[in-house]
Amino acid sequence: MERPPSVDALARDLADTGLPHPLLVDVAREAIAAGDVASARDRADSVATALLRPVINATGVLLHTNLGRAPVAVHTEARYTNLELDLASGRRGSRSAHAAALLARAAGAEAALVVNNGAAALLLVLTALANGGDVVVSRGELVEIGGGFRIPEVLAASGARLVEVGTTNRTRLTDYSGVAVDAALILKVHQSNYRMEGFVHSVPVRDLAGLGPAVVADIGSGLLDAACPWLVGGPPPWLRDEPAARQTVAEGAALVTFSGDKLLGGPQAGVIAGRRDLVDRCARHPLARALRPGALVLGALQETALAYLRRDGQAIPFWRMASVSVEELRARAAAMVLGEVVSCQSVPGGGSLPGLTIPSAGVAVGGDHTAALRAHDPPVVARVEDGRTVCDLRAVDPSDDVVLGKALAACVS
Ligand SMILES: *Cc1c(COP(=O)(O)O)cnc(C)c1O
Repeated sequence: MERPPSVDALARDLADTGLPHPLLVDVAREAIAAGDVASARDRADSVATALLRPVINATGVLLHTNLGRAPVAVHTEARYTNLELDLASGRRGSRSAHAAALLARAAGAEAALVVNNGAAALLLVLTALANGGDVVVSRGELVEIGGGFRIPEVLAASGARLVEVGTTNRTRLTDYSGVAVDAALILKVHQSNYRMEGFVHSVPVRDLAGLGPAVVADIGSGLLDAACPWLVGGPPPWLRDEPAARQTVAEGAALVTFSGDKLLGGPQAGVIAGRRDLVDRCARHPLARALRPGALVLGALQETALAYLRRDGQAIPFWRMASVSVEELRARAAAMVLGEVVSCQSVPGGGSLPGLTIPSAGVAVGGDHTAALRAHDPPVVARVEDGRTVCDLRAVDPSDDVVLGKALAACVS
């Protein structure tokens, strides 16, 4: 029997994959241990494929959690920033002086604080402000958002005591007023990823705001303003009933919390916006330090906030994609000269706006080619409908059309 090659020799043979030597050593060891030296290259390819890289999103889901939700541009030169330096005085500044301040301005709030994600925002608010006291929540809003984020569990983790009021489908103001006097907070949670219809009732923030305790509204999606002044035509029809930060604050919420990478269209982040005294208490809590994002995220979020303040929805990739006309998408699909141009329905995604769709267009080819498309470089993520592979163009950057066309052509040929 032939002796297996040395781990080191096999690893060196794979150097052309571009992977660092220690990773190739691991791959070589595994292949030799499996008695299958020939599999080393495939194993190395799998390691390379698992690395984070750009993909083309042809699923029609604009905010796809598996694809990183909203796409954002990040500036990557190695440079210092004035992250916590006040350039005017030369003294220590605040991490909230840039992105957070701009978002507060755009949402009509006194102040804001940025943390790592929406879940962190709610956890920090409950930990810092409820301080182990009672938090009143409607039974209709004890939701699970996905990825294990369940309101009762987040409340328990914060040390606060959950006081449930009302029923699954109906909660009235009197349900809250009975218990609110002693509560630390009233929490209102947007149901985000599901919808209740029929014999239902919930209490708007405007009414809860008069009960005494501060009202915290977890609006989830991060729609900044229901009027969408950054879109030329105003709010699109599919945005129906989505709560917005500006209006929720104006209705009397002491704080709103929301994600940075859902309908806000920014990087993964969580925003706490509202009364300055409460935002400051959150910022001073030790947990805030553990949940704070760095300059990369704050820089991308600042760009997003500036675009909103300029009312320039076209500068925010999510809104640019969401507002492209179906005619334009059809023209792009036709220009691929491949398969069939089809009408389809995109969805906003990100656990928001369940059941609401955005008319779209794309290209369809016979058969299921999704695995081959995922293996393409760059990977293309598409969906299968009625035995055909459909590439919805709404979430595809126009500059990727040519690459997508080539990937599809390679599959069908
Ligand atoms: C999405 C969502 C969250 C969680 O936000 P992440 O940014 O995903 O952590 C929390 N609450 C609501 C209502 C949401 O919709």
